[in-house]
Order: sequence, then structure tokens, then C-alpha cells
Amino acid sequence: MKIFCIGRNYVDHAKELGNQVPLEPVIFMKPKSALLQPHTPFYYPEFTNELHSEVELVLRISKNGKYIQEKHASKYYNGLTVGIDFTARDIQNELKEKGLPWEKAKAWDNSTVIGKWVDITSETKKNNINFCLYKNKELVQQGNSGQMIFSFDYIVAHISNYFSLNIGDIIFTGTPAGVGECVVGDNLEGFMEDESMFELSIK
Ligand code: ZN
Repeated sequence: MKIFCIGRNYVDHAKELGNQVPLEPVIFMKPKSALLQPHTPFYYPEFTNELHSEVELVLRISKNGKYIQEKHASKYYNGLTVGIDFTARDIQNELKEKGLPWEKAKAWDNSTVIGKWVDITSETKKNNINFCLYKNKELVQQGNSGQMIFSFDYIVAHISNYFSLNIGDIIFTGTPAGVGECVVGDNLEGFMEDESMFELSIK
């Protein structure tokens, strides 16, 4: 199982971190060990002093493929949820400054949380999905899939030009503006439309 993440897929988020709006998807990956298993506590990592939560829509790959054309891409994923791409922002800033890879900031154990899966059907309005994150019952981040620079289908097709996609792989499709810091004791709850998809406390 592979975890793909798209960086800078929302114009407002790219700008808030002082990044350029990309001309093609920014892709990075996390290992399987980065996925927090169900009923497992999330611990604030010792190596960072600036933990950020990024709420994102997440796709579940349902068919093996490579060199997928965008017009066929929707046949390769069938599930949707929201998740958090936790980021050690202080470390990421250091690495970015030196032009180094981001794994230490992004791909550490349990750095990734996903909610319950919702099946994608012909009724799903893939370009109009609202999602958001509440921190301590206060709305901190919200987005809509229609604001993405690169659509689900484009992302799936693009990734498959470089990496084979396999059943069970997941794709984090990028975070909207409003990323913020988390501290021990924070409660985070992610929603897709009005439905709560996950809830966790930072230990
Ligand atoms: Zn992210």
C-alpha cells in the first residue's frame, strides 16, 4: 500500500506558505508506517516544535493501473474520505531552505490520519465536495474540491505516469488555506459535508 500526497493544490494555501502556484502537481509519498491505525492514540512527536494539521480529501484506489488517461481515471478510485497530513512545519521549512527532501517533516510514523470511507457513486458531485476541520470545536480550516488546481482525475492520471497505482493505495489531494499549529490536548474533528469522518486528540 502506498500513500501519495499532493502539495500546493489550492491557490490560497500555496500563497499562505509563500509558495508559487505549481504548473503540475507536486507529489510526495509516505510509507505505510505513516498511517495511524484505528484506535491508536496520536502522540505529539518529540522532534518538532511546530506541528501543523492539514485537512485534505483522500481518494482510495480500487483498480491497478499505470499510464491512466485522465478520461478513464474515475474508474480507478471508488472511495473518498477526509484525513490529516500532519506536518512538522519547522523541519519542513529547514529542509525546503536547503532544497532537501521532505520525509522527515511529513512521512514519520503515524503522521497520517484517515476517516471512514464513503463510496463514490454516480451521485457524488466530485467537483463540489465541502470538507473542514474543527479544532477544539472551532472551525479552523475549510475547503471545497471545486477549488483544487488539479482535479481528482488529473491527479490520478498524472501520478500513474510515474508510479503504478494499486488497489488500496490512497491519495491525499492537498490542503486548502488555514493550516495551523496543534498542541498537546487539542481535539481535531474532520467533516465531509455535514458528516463527521474522524475525531482524535493529540496526546
Ligand atoms: Zn498536505
